Amino acid sequence: MALDKLARSPRVPGDSNPITRDAAGAATPGSARHGAEPVPVRSLPSRSALRFVIVAGLILLQIVTVAGILLSQHLNEQQVLREHMKRTIGGVIDEIKENAQGFLTPTQNVAELSRRLFEAETISWARRSELERYFLEQLRVIPQLDAIYYGDRHGQFLMVRREHNDGERAYLIKTIEFNDEVRRVEKRWLNRMMGVFERVDETADTYDPRARPWYKNALAKKEMVWTDPYVFFTSKQPGITAAVTVFDRQNGVQGVVGVDMEIGKLSDFLGEQNVGQRGAALIINRQGDYIAHSHAPRVSIDMETGRLRMARIDELDDPIEKAAITVFKNPGELLNFAWLNLEDSLHASIDIEGERYHAIFRPFPKMSPWPWVIGVYVAETDFIGPIRRGKRNKMIVAIIISAGITLVAFLMARRFMRPVVALRDELDRDVLTGVHNRRSLFEIAPRLVEQARTSRSPLSVIIVDIDQFKKINDTYGHAVGDQVLTVVAQRLRHAVEQEDLFARYAGDEFVLLLPQTEILLACRVGERLCATISGTPINTTSGEIAVTVSLGVADLGADRKNFEMIFDEADRALRFAKVNGRDRVAVAGTLPTSKDVEVAAR
Ligand code: GH3
Ligand code: MG
Repeated sequence: MALDKLARSPRVPGDSNPITRDAAGAATPGSARHGAEPVPVRSLPSRSALRFVIVAGLILLQIVTVAGILLSQHLNEQQVLREHMKRTIGGVIDEIKENAQGFLTPTQNVAELSRRLFEAETISWARRSELERYFLEQLRVIPQLDAIYYGDRHGQFLMVRREHNDGERAYLIKTIEFNDEVRRVEKRWLNRMMGVFERVDETADTYDPRARPWYKNALAKKEMVWTDPYVFFTSKQPGITAAVTVFDRQNGVQGVVGVDMEIGKLSDFLGEQNVGQRGAALIINRQGDYIAHSHAPRVSIDMETGRLRMARIDELDDPIEKAAITVFKNPGELLNFAWLNLEDSLHASIDIEGERYHAIFRPFPKMSPWPWVIGVYVAETDFIGPIRRGKRNKMIVAIIISAGITLVAFLMARRFMRPVVALRDELDRDVLTGVHNRRSLFEIAPRLVEQARTSRSPLSVIIVDIDQFKKINDTYGHAVGDQVLTVVAQRLRHAVEQEDLFARYAGDEFVLLLPQTEILLACRVGERLCATISGTPINTTSGEIAVTVSLGVADLGADRKNFEMIFDEADRALRFAKVNGRDRVAVAGTLPTSKDVEVAAR
């Protein structure tokens, strides 16, 4: 039985006249009020709040867990990857160093052996044919040797050189000798079978070994010297020369042995190193001249002489190499660096065109005769690109698994939470009638009153108490009493609107809270409720029982600011209704005081 919506207009001042269904009736001493006084109740989280807490908690937990795992994995992997790359580059450098040394050492050994043989007079200028054979033999055995020669202190000279251009001219033998003050220069070419292919007298040749840098350097240092790399005139291949002074028995200078070697093969070797698609390996000297490069020897034309020479690292248009050498703050540092300890390396990270390159430069060992630096750079994605892709897949799998776990956990939580939610609902419900219980009433009602007060809207409270209920109990028994209670609760519930709060307060007592309802309207509601109960007897297992109720009505007002105060007033009105004959509605406002009631009862 819903109320007319229009009737629910805000209360008009002055409407709150006391209304009783039956104003007459003797006042009796206030009947003992059953039920406890209202007590504040601790509020419970609502059903939806419980759900929210569970779902949000689970999701948050998963996010934190997955993020934690991924982050630690990421940091770990990042470190492992960097280490892996550094080790790889370091390994490449070590290998290059080893190989370069293996490549260069024979040349030095040939020069050194020749010096010893000269000094032991196993070979000598006087036995020139033996010397020639010895030189030829060295060239044949050690493929990277380009030429081997000896110049003596008188300016005499013997050189055996590998010829590149022609099968018939496999070797060139050049001799400069003085016979009785007569200078004779002869060039002889041998074929592969060591037969003489051609012989030429070069009368115009003015070559003097003593004027050459290798001769001068060796004499000046009195030990093995290495020239800087240069491009051999005939082969157009880059090469270097090792030279050593030969002394006689009296410690005077006999001459100097020189050995030329090609170092182009070093570049071939660098090219075989695993430096990824965009990486490179290189060797530079302390001036920054290329000695070898994995992409082929890098030579350049000298602008002044027009001759080929080794290019400088900052000269060619390679942005990565140009950037990489910035690890050497100035050319002087490159010079110093070459003589640092074996372990010393310089690292650089270079970002070019969206790609990160890692470069390492490491010098040859301090004691080695080559003051060179090996550099290797690699593009990061060449090395860790596949690993990165694997990582992304791993992350997707982790997220999918985590989402699955969250779903399963949520379903399980929902299952486990069902009794909790039911329990929570039960806490708010009256077991017998299913309506709100006293706990719930005192949780919700104060809030509704406060809302009404702040929004200045009307609000009324009705207390309903079954008349002579004890008698019903006594006459028909407790079970029938329960049936009566249940039916009364049902009828009352259906007689009011859904948004009205309806609760069983105690034994046979119910409370109704009507928001947006001024007192006059509340009285009409009360009248209706009264009629609803008394109008039809209640069908029980013991037959029909006529039941009536008494109601007390009070509203929010200047002297009733909170729920408890309104409740007390409604309760007072209820007692008034009881003492005035029951089966009626009494309204707070102009009721006689309890004293009046007592007086009237006498
Ligand atoms: P009044 O008209 O003055 O209200 O008389 P009354 O007999 O109804 O008196 P009162 O309201 O004090 O009696 C309430 C009775 O309700 C007392 C108690 O035995 C009974 N009661 C309380 N709770 C229950 C219940 O859950 N089931 C049943 N069957 N009876 C209850
Ligand atoms: Mg009663």
